[in-house]
Amino acid sequence: MNYRAPRGTNDLFPSVAHAFSWIEEKAHEVFARYGYVLFETPLFEQTEVFARGIGTATDVVGKEMFGVYSGAAAAKFANGEPLKADEQLSLRPEGTAGVARAVLQNGLIAPGAPALKLWYTGSMFRHERPQKGRLRQFHQIGVECLGAAEPSVDAEVIIMLVRFFEALGLPSESMRLYVNSMGDTACRPAYREAVRAYILDHTDDLCDECVRRAETNPLRAFDCKNPRCSEIMDDAPAITTMLCDDCAEHYAAVRSLLDTAGISYEENTRLVRGLDYYTRTVFEVQIDAGLGAQNALGGGGRYDGLIEEFGGKPTPGLGFAVGLERILLALEAQGTVPSKVPTPAVFIASVDDGARDAAFALALRLRDAGCAVELDHQNRSLKSQFKLADKLGVAWVVVLGPDELASGTATLRSMETHEEQSVALEELPELLSASTPAELN
Ligand code: AMP
Repeated sequence: MNYRAPRGTNDLFPSVAHAFSWIEEKAHEVFARYGYVLFETPLFEQTEVFARGIGTATDVVGKEMFGVYSGAAAAKFANGEPLKADEQLSLRPEGTAGVARAVLQNGLIAPGAPALKLWYTGSMFRHERPQKGRLRQFHQIGVECLGAAEPSVDAEVIIMLVRFFEALGLPSESMRLYVNSMGDTACRPAYREAVRAYILDHTDDLCDECVRRAETNPLRAFDCKNPRCSEIMDDAPAITTMLCDDCAEHYAAVRSLLDTAGISYEENTRLVRGLDYYTRTVFEVQIDAGLGAQNALGGGGRYDGLIEEFGGKPTPGLGFAVGLERILLALEAQGTVPSKVPTPAVFIASVDDGARDAAFALALRLRDAGCAVELDHQNRSLKSQFKLADKLGVAWVVVLGPDELASGTATLRSMETHEEQSVALEELPELLSASTPAELN
């Protein structure tokens, strides 16, 4: 067999899968304190949800989406026949557009209701060039807060992101939090135009892609990795000088709340975030250690126009997403990866074949009593069973043999002290009930 996982995808080995689930537990703990509840949308949506929501001129939609073609639609697609809108499906490249679609479709925001606070965790798919910290299937945890326009919500979300990283053991001193305002429909068009004009004035110095962006998505030129382009774009007009009064006031209020909360951040007028839906506050957390070129751990912003873009009533919203693979790289770089793979605490060893059925029955009883128990299923010798128990790192080995079976007892051996004692079988569940799965260190 020569099958390989598709390029840019990873098999999540237990150490990674359990670390992800630990990160999710931390998210749950921290986000619950801020009133966020878990929400899940499908892994694929009508392509239009992403095209409309994120914008066709973005890389994410324009270049990186995976289409999903099934049944009759696949045949039509193969024949080059046009597909109906509900047959054009794509794997989700991010979470916000799907959540906004779900909120609108299900009428989850009633007029005057408190803000809807949702969080999610799951796979996202982007056809990017794979490299360290950049995959085609990756995992994000994200939050969305819908229905509140006030700057205190922006500050709350940013603070929650910082607290989440702290809870993971990623101290804020090791990271940089950037904030910016991208303006809104009142002031951004003029800014966009100013950046477009700036790019067109510098076509000789900028790469072809940036020049092309002048017409499609000029603000994306700020994200160009080409050092010469970054240098030129450093002197482009700054959005903060062109914000309308409302946006400037909103932005000042957010910063003031962050200051009061003692959150350290840097203003970065070059931070535009790649997706079209952002308005006003945007933010990103970057960390250098362990991440290489892909140094953004996560980020987000406000998207007050998104629900309206989908045909709903004007509904403010904001959120962020963080990448689990990159969080793990950052934890690895500082040597604090949580090793949460559970291991059994008790091993039941059979002295000979006559004890195997009793060992099997005892394992079931102990497991039902809450113990984490393993036993040999492959007819190993007693010696190899002990070797296995040692390898598994169990605290206790319960030995069953003809003598034990005859007297209704078991020999209980502590793997730490190597002491042995004879214990009545019916006492074992209670004696070992504290032997829940240990976590591998
Ligand atoms: P974005 O949705 O592009 O703002 O990304 C938010 C976060 O998701 C990033 O900061 C990364 O941590 C993570 N992320 C985005 N794209 C990828 C990718 N292709 N591979 C791994 N992680 C990613």
